[in-house]
Amino acid sequence: MAVERIETRIHVEDALAEGATVGLGPERAHFLKHVLRLAPGAELALFNGRDGEYRARLDGVGKGWASLAVLEQRRAPAPEPDLWLVFAPLKFARIDFLAQKATELGVSALVPVFTRRTVVERVNLDRLRANAVEAAEQSERLSVPEVHEARRLDQAIGHWPEGRRLYVCAERGGAVPIARALADCLAGPAANLPAAFLIGPEGGFDPAELDALVKLPFVTPVSLGRRILRADTAALAALAVWQALRDAAANVDASG
Ligand code: SAM
Repeated sequence: MAVERIETRIHVEDALAEGATVGLGPERAHFLKHVLRLAPGAELALFNGRDGEYRARLDGVGKGWASLAVLEQRRAPAPEPDLWLVFAPLKFARIDFLAQKATELGVSALVPVFTRRTVVERVNLDRLRANAVEAAEQSERLSVPEVHEARRLDQAIGHWPEGRRLYVCAERGGAVPIARALADCLAGPAANLPAAFLIGPEGGFDPAELDALVKLPFVTPVSLGRRILRADTAALAALAVWQALRDAAANVDASG
């Protein structure tokens, strides 16, 4: 049965259980009181990435604080796909957009990497996290993607976890069309295996870098079509295709 929608969903770090009380800090309290204009008695939904989702009631809100009474569980914890987005950081608003949309599309981790042609030199991890939290709240996810420390691509590849397939999005060099590559890789129980997409920087991969990547046994190079997409477009296209084909292969019922 579908769960009735509660407009305001908040991610918290506290453990959630019926009868618990959750306190919010100044920023969240301000948001509830002055942006959403909620008053004591208002209903919210809380999730923390571990305990599912709970209905809660705003019991009190003042300057710099808010207190919530945790009521019954609305949704039990459920397994989510283990899909990383590994990406060369983009500038300003485009990295915010990428973090938000990738979260909506269900990634389990955001992994910034510096490739040879990456122009951006620093990544604001707190800002990436804030964007991921906001998108998780909005999209009714039960979890927020992890945000990994930014590091060089060769370091990330050097410590690549066993069993995680890496789909390298490559617009040139004879990469296999994404639907064909995923049809093979997601067949049967493989649909539930950990995976990752790698998206290059605006200037693309350095040819030697791409050559080295495609020789690795855990890498499958994939094409997203004949046109050259901007990095954020490419990431979202790849994630949307993966989600559609993976849900079909794993026989996932999206209405549940
Ligand atoms: N300046 C580069 C060039 O013309 O070769 C284009 C780089 S593109 C803006 C940024 C990244 O998006 C690429 O490194 C790749 O990972 C991904 N990408 C863009 N278009 C793609 C396509 N058609 N197929 C697969 N990946 C693509």
